[in-house]
Amino acid sequence: MLPVITHTNSIRSVDDLAAYLQTRGIDWAATSLPSHEQLQKLHQTFPIRIPQHYADLIDWKNPHDPLRKLVLPPLVEADQQPYELPDPIGDHDREVVPGLIHRYPDRCLLLLTTYCLVHCRFCFRKDVVGEVRPVDFAAIRAYLTNHQEVHELIFSGGDPLTFPVGFLMAMGQQLGPIEHIHQWRFHTRVPAVDPESVGISWLETLTNLAEKHRFKPIIVIHIDHPRELTSETTAFINHCLDRNIMLLSQTVLLKNVNDNTQTLAELFRSLVKVGVKPYYLHHLDRALGTHHFRLSIAEGQKLYQSLRGHLSTVALPEYVLDLPGGFGKVPVMWLEQLNDHTYQTETFEGKKVTYSDYGVATP
Ligand code: SF4
Repeated sequence: MLPVITHTNSIRSVDDLAAYLQTRGIDWAATSLPSHEQLQKLHQTFPIRIPQHYADLIDWKNPHDPLRKLVLPPLVEADQQPYELPDPIGDHDREVVPGLIHRYPDRCLLLLTTYCLVHCRFCFRKDVVGEVRPVDFAAIRAYLTNHQEVHELIFSGGDPLTFPVGFLMAMGQQLGPIEHIHQWRFHTRVPAVDPESVGISWLETLTNLAEKHRFKPIIVIHIDHPRELTSETTAFINHCLDRNIMLLSQTVLLKNVNDNTQTLAELFRSLVKVGVKPYYLHHLDRALGTHHFRLSIAEGQKLYQSLRGHLSTVALPEYVLDLPGGFGKVPVMWLEQLNDHTYQTETFEGKKVTYSDYGVATP
């Protein structure tokens, strides 16, 4: 089965971008963007994809606009660093069945689609985003049925909110009857970048499946800047809350986008106000071509310390680092500094791991 869906109202090439700017009466020269040819080259490495809803939020004449930085590559994206990795969090090392990753005992990650509505320039799955991948439900079901310790399914991708309704129903049929699974968690950037692309029928299908199979539906909204929390996003949130879907959020800490107390505090407070609990603040993974977004561990820890003073725990997410090599997430505040750029921590399994700010984690 292939979870394929296509959306047409987005910028998917440099020509599309030029046409979009023209319709908005913006001259390319006034944007300080790289040239058409330079952008074309970057597009070939990791394609540009920007939904129109998101493009309309960007201040195109401001080269420092944080939203623009999230979706358009600067020239330095081509300068990959030796410490950057195509699979920075070690998904492949923990893949037990194609598309099924079992890293922690009680939960499994399902990567059933590699399709996204937006291509984030900091993406940690650049190596797989955009590939078409068939799903073998029989193999996934067999593995999960044999692993009674698994209580939660985490759908990521790609973006699981791009599943066609028919695919969601098939998923319910295949995985819903597994009784020891009590939570289905969807990680998605769709509500922040193209909230109106999710139909009510999608949410209703999910809640019907949840009721029938007695699991708790949870949606984790990936949101990186307060300007992404638009009235359309809030409307989506309200539809979820009306249907008893739990809402959490995840943010990636990114240099020159959201790396200050004011921006993050505004984002987290605004999320709580509309009914979303800030869940994770992620230290940037060692994804390819992301050096310009990177803060050091020391800078991140200092910022988080300041956030602790400015936000109650209700609005404060946990600041985490996904260790390279598939060791899993650890709170960044647990990292113990050994020397300038080297830290030590312990995984949930009690394994000691060293992490170099610009190196590779080793057990
Ligand atoms: S939505 Fe997630 S998987 Fe898709 S491009 Fe963005 S970061 Fe990557």
